[in-house]
Amino acid sequence: MTTTIAKISNALQRNIDIINDYRKSYYDAGLALREIHDKEQYLESHKDFASFCSDQWGFSVRHCRRIMDSSIVNDDLKGPIGPITLKIDGKNTIILPENESQARAVADVADDARTRVLVWTEAVAAAKKDESGKPRVTAALVKKVAKKIKGTKKPRPKKPRKPAADQPAREAGEDPPEPEHTGPILDGMKGEVCTGLNSVFQSMSEYRGLQNEIGEMLTQINNLANGASGGRLDYQECQRLCQQLQAQLKFAAPHTECPKCRRKWDKKCPHCKGTGWVTKNEFSACASDADKIWLEKRK
Ligand SMILES: [Zn+2]
Repeated sequence: MTTTIAKISNALQRNIDIINDYRKSYYDAGLALREIHDKEQYLESHKDFASFCSDQWGFSVRHCRRIMDSSIVNDDLKGPIGPITLKIDGKNTIILPENESQARAVADVADDARTRVLVWTEAVAAAKKDESGKPRVTAALVKKVAKKIKGTKKPRPKKPRKPAADQPAREAGEDPPEPEHTGPILDGMKGEVCTGLNSVFQSMSEYRGLQNEIGEMLTQINNLANGASGGRLDYQECQRLCQQLQAQLKFAAPHTECPKCRRKWDKKCPHCKGTGWVTKNEFSACASDADKIWLEKRK
């Protein structure tokens, strides 16, 4: 049974209040919900995030994810070079989504900050301006611009994630699974990692995906180099740089849980440096037969 009357911290209560006042600022609500999620504040009264949100507001995890995503959008749009700024009524004004429907439209376009910035920038440029010069960016306009950009750009391949053996493979076109309800996270040894390392091993497929993308990029560069304009393009040098990038990603990618710490996460462990996980090279350098047996027996 959940204990909604459990005594909770001031930090959590403050976040709950902000979310209760959701209409005031979708951005603040998203930030508050992200803090409850990321700092696991929901554990103060519930065993998981889903039951906390359901008891507290009747929100599904999917709905919470969208609220959090909408606030992440604003952070993404501030980007490495800062948000779009326009002169409105003679004053420099930051142009970010003002309501949740605008933010959601941007969030739905893509997961990566680069595409989001691209879509938002184009939408702001294409928007009708009011008398003060302020662009009126609607969700519909964002969708229209996104469609145009996606039509000219090869979509980034979705992160492949192997379904766990006891879960049916996902059909094309189905909604992606909610992060809270995915199967166990498997590492490079096909073993189930402890939950504390989920976020580390969730990124494993991204390392692989990026290496593949670099390979594809190199093929495109080769085509350019051999094409009409390619006279000044040094393919050999590009190849060297791409291979360096690939090697760096391969070298740094998580491989498996530290077979020496065995989930005790020894801060002084010379193999994983207390992180609890090792790369393939680190694994090869330290794992004995007994260690491999321990890794195989996890579950
Ligand atoms: Zn270790």
